[in-house]
Amino acid sequence: MTKPTSLSKIISDPSCVDDYDPNSMPVKQAREFIKKFLTPINVIEKLQLRDSLGRILAEEIISPFNVPSFDNSAMDGYACLAIDFQEKIALKIVGTSFAGNTFKVTVRSGQCVRIMTGAVLPIGCDTVVVQEKVKVENGSIHFIDTPKRGANVRYAGDDLRHGQVVFKAGQKITAADLGLIASLGIGEVSVYRKLKVVFFSTGDELVSIGKPLETGQIYDSNRYTLYGMLANMNVEIIDMGVVRDDPIALEKTLVEASQKADVIITSGGVSVGEADYMKMLLEKLGQVLFWKIAMKPGRPLAFGKIGHAHYFGLPGNPVAVMVTFYQFVREAILMLMGQSEPKDLPLLKAICTEPINKMAGRTEFQRGILYLADEGEYRGEWVVKPIENQSSGVLSSMSMANCFIVLGTDVGNLTINSYVQVQVFEGMI
Ligand code: AMP
Ligand code: MG
Repeated sequence: MTKPTSLSKIISDPSCVDDYDPNSMPVKQAREFIKKFLTPINVIEKLQLRDSLGRILAEEIISPFNVPSFDNSAMDGYACLAIDFQEKIALKIVGTSFAGNTFKVTVRSGQCVRIMTGAVLPIGCDTVVVQEKVKVENGSIHFIDTPKRGANVRYAGDDLRHGQVVFKAGQKITAADLGLIASLGIGEVSVYRKLKVVFFSTGDELVSIGKPLETGQIYDSNRYTLYGMLANMNVEIIDMGVVRDDPIALEKTLVEASQKADVIITSGGVSVGEADYMKMLLEKLGQVLFWKIAMKPGRPLAFGKIGHAHYFGLPGNPVAVMVTFYQFVREAILMLMGQSEPKDLPLLKAICTEPINKMAGRTEFQRGILYLADEGEYRGEWVVKPIENQSSGVLSSMSMANCFIVLGTDVGNLTINSYVQVQVFEGMI
């Protein structure tokens, strides 16, 4: 695929890109396109360390010293000198080194020091022998086995070396990272500001919670699933409600959304036949590509820019909203937040307990229940049972499931007990 120069170039002349077929776009290609046209935020703010959890680092973190800063013991035991190991002599206990205290005495051959986990290794010592491996008699120790030189010592700089780059900018701050930054004595970090994401639903049939349903109407659920998914991503969420399939209301909302947010997500109104208003407006207000993705569920998808805001037009079907969010929007949001290389969601292998009907040539994201079989023919194996109703309008399939069964483009019909790939919801939803 040659590199297109801009969204508008592809819109005006789709043939400028090799292999570009908006009516049958492979999942992978769509993801590549989206990535190419993202402009991450670059506004930086300084936060107290705890408040930075889940945010993206905007600076390098460099270790101002060695961690640990001194050689210390990894166990409770006796600090001694390896040169004494060959002689079967008793070593005299000449003191105790406690964690948090300094131990000033230099230890010589024939001597040892009682030492606690984390305590400074006394000068002269090179090994710690765990207390279970010695016999204590008359203020001296005898080794039960010959110890290994250097055992149970944590050397200065074992964890981090002075001057080492601990984190590069673009890293998402996790619980472990908070601890590691704290261990460097750093209390404030520079992170990118929160991404502002606005969403609204489109459709004349949609009613917000709190109002009664008339015949032919349904409650808007997409704004709730979208809220749930975004809430897990540490972005600022702006809910602009339900907008009728009415060009004036849609235009007003789209313009307002593009002024308020970095990302606009809409659901509904991008499928064929119905796309008229949205498509016309998006063409007028921004630069938007309309794709039919070779996937199920989630065929129609629109992507582009309205003003400075990135735009994702998701299908209306409730399952399709979730699938397209996870497969396209999630990664894009992470990159827009400033994360350098978001990791792909892991794919794991499991045995499928049912035969699967599947058309080759598109990617399917079936909903399944993954479990570790504890009896029967699958005992000890991770197996996955597809949910019975795989309709993209049936949201209960997402609630009942705990994973997607990801069936790639080349996969066709599968017999019972075939290996399939699954993407686990835990940690993702
Ligand atoms: P559309 O993509 O607008 O043609 O919608 C496809 C299907 O999804 C239709 O059955 C809609 O009623 C349904 N749908 C669209 N938006 C929502 C929503 N926000 N909540 C629940 N269902 C929706
Ligand atoms: Mg609609």
